Amino acid sequence: ARRQGGGCFVFFETPMGEQAIEHFEIEKTLSQAIRNHELCLHLQPQVTSEGQLKAAEALVRWEHPQKGLLSPGLFIPVAEESNLVVEIGCWVVTEALRLIQVARKRGLDFEMSINISARHFHQKNFVDWLKDQVYAAEINPKYLTLEITESLIIDNIDEVVEKMRELRRFGLKFSIDDFGTGYSSLSYLKHLPIHEIKIDKSFVQDVSTDPDSAALVETILAVAEKMQLQVVAEGVETQEQLEFLASKAKILYQGYYFSKPQPGEAWINNL
Ligand code: C2E
Ligand code: CA
Ligand code: CA
Ligand code: CA
Repeated sequence: ARRQGGGCFVFFETPMGEQAIEHFEIEKTLSQAIRNHELCLHLQPQVTSEGQLKAAEALVRWEHPQKGLLSPGLFIPVAEESNLVVEIGCWVVTEALRLIQVARKRGLDFEMSINISARHFHQKNFVDWLKDQVYAAEINPKYLTLEITESLIIDNIDEVVEKMRELRRFGLKFSIDDFGTGYSSLSYLKHLPIHEIKIDKSFVQDVSTDPDSAALVETILAVAEKMQLQVVAEGVETQEQLEFLASKAKILYQGYYFSKPQPGEAWINNL
């Protein structure tokens, strides 16, 4: 117990809960993980209703020497609290560009999406740095889509508009991830060079059982059609979900129904 001004005592039960220790461990070893080449990219296909491959989303994994394959949900939130997420983001861009090269060398024509964290996007030199990476990789920028979230856009909108426009002029594409979960006004859709929206899996998974989710998804599809935006439905797990969506619009599908994320390079080499 510690004495505070005013004579009150404040009791600290455990100075560090289990979660805090885990958090500290991750932060301590994650930076090394990048240098030790313990990160890898898995790819999850985005296909037409007939199953034709159009694109793939790159999803980072940590091949932890003791703990095995760790999902990003475990370490990205920790990384986001510091510049570690920028380090990881830089690695992801480089590795995704390399995988695009591998695919192009095999004569494959699918596109790739990567997740860009807000902190990375807001870095002062992000635009020039990214253009340099794409130049250096000697690939057509049209093969790369940046998935960003509504909260990234809303935070400092003027800066975001400028950066997005410059990258779009360069040839990169933008996708709004987790669309519909942001509680934000949709007016930004008019002002930003967005190519695609991804309907969040929370809506997709209820679409064939819950009328409210169905209505919401139909509205999103109508907006997207009016604005000529490509749509990806994420988290498609069942034939019912696929059939409902396919009866409404021509979109792309990403989900376990078609494929789980697969180790990237091996997956490309088996296509
Ligand atoms: P996200 O961007 O929304 O990615 C989709 C997540 O849904 C992935 O989880 C994917 O494996 C999962 N998923 C795909 N299809 C299905 C399905 O049919 N059913 C279910 N239940 N899940 C499905 P994952 O790979 O664990 O990634 C979790 C989150 O971590 C991502 O969500 C993204 O926000 C973040 N993340 C992943 N890779 C990166 C990265 O390279 N950079 C950053 N900044 N964040 C990343
Ligand atoms: Ca994503
Ligand atoms: Ca998503
Ligand atoms: Ca998500």
